[in-house]
Amino acid sequence: MSAPAAIALPVEACDYRTQCEPVRARFERLKARDVALRVKGLGKVFRNAEGAETVALRGIDLVTHRREFLCVVGPSGCGKSTFVRILAGLETKSSGTVSVGGVPVSGPGADRGMVFQGYTLFPWLTVKRNVAFGLEENGESRHVAEREAAQWLALIGLERFADAYPHQLSGGMKQRVAIARALAMRPRILLMDEPFSALDTQSRARMQAYLIEIWRKIDITIVFITHDLDEAVTLADRILVLKAHPGEVEELIEVPVPRPRHPGQSLTPEFRATRARLDALIHPSEAEADGPADLGGLDMVTRMASVGDEVE
Ligand code: ADP
Ligand code: MG
Repeated sequence: MSAPAAIALPVEACDYRTQCEPVRARFERLKARDVALRVKGLGKVFRNAEGAETVALRGIDLVTHRREFLCVVGPSGCGKSTFVRILAGLETKSSGTVSVGGVPVSGPGADRGMVFQGYTLFPWLTVKRNVAFGLEENGESRHVAEREAAQWLALIGLERFADAYPHQLSGGMKQRVAIARALAMRPRILLMDEPFSALDTQSRARMQAYLIEIWRKIDITIVFITHDLDEAVTLADRILVLKAHPGEVEELIEVPVPRPRHPGQSLTPEFRATRARLDALIHPSEAEADGPADLGGLDMVTRMASVGDEVE
């Protein structure tokens, strides 16, 4: 039995570039903030032992503002990890410039925290000591480091596990500790490379909600790599879409889904239109032909979807 046609609006009824008033106003405020990250003409060429070259990134330009949540998506091998590793200072660039808070990036630094896909906690240290580790390395006394670590553990809701060891935690909890450990160093930017990819669907949804909560509470800009397109639309203010071989910017999408975000929004026309656009860019042969559609009735739809929304 087919569903009544009126229940779900066809994706074509909404253009991902159309923003309801609260979303438009939020982007205006966001772009008025200080620049957190500036990338200009960034390129990366890998050379193997035989001298063969892989152009992993080419001509990447990007400006990210303070407290922005940026997701980066693109097909496998398009250079997402290379990009974020260069931002972290873990990989050298071949050309272009990267600056954080106006300061050129030339190596790892306390202004950038990193969370990886794999679990990277020290297994021989307790949760609290894992979070305090970097602070002590930076010269804080053990007392101060542990007191700060306790505050970060409270923020991520794991204070009860302060004395547990990593092997006693679920995958999601380990990643929360990894986030707390990165944030304890008070970076300007949190760089995350597919941090939830190893988690099951439910844990992943919970982690997305946790991350948004943390991001709302503190002054942090997030660059979040994912290959999960729904995750990108769920989390991001803007989505940087890269294409492969060479890795270049395909599009920078302003997500038209209002905040605060909630799971029910995945059925809204603006969510589905954004998701459809990403599909068209990343799996062009599988998606419908792209391009703007007729937008009759869109204003009413976006207004209905944004009633009562408190942006930020
Ligand atoms: P993604 O994270 O989007 O899957 P990567 O950044 O890992 O992509 O890789 C981008 C391209 O650069 C790929 O073609 C990959 O094979 C190549 N590459 C990545 N790291 C290295 C390396 N250390 N040496 C040589 N080639 C690499
Ligand atoms: Mg990768």
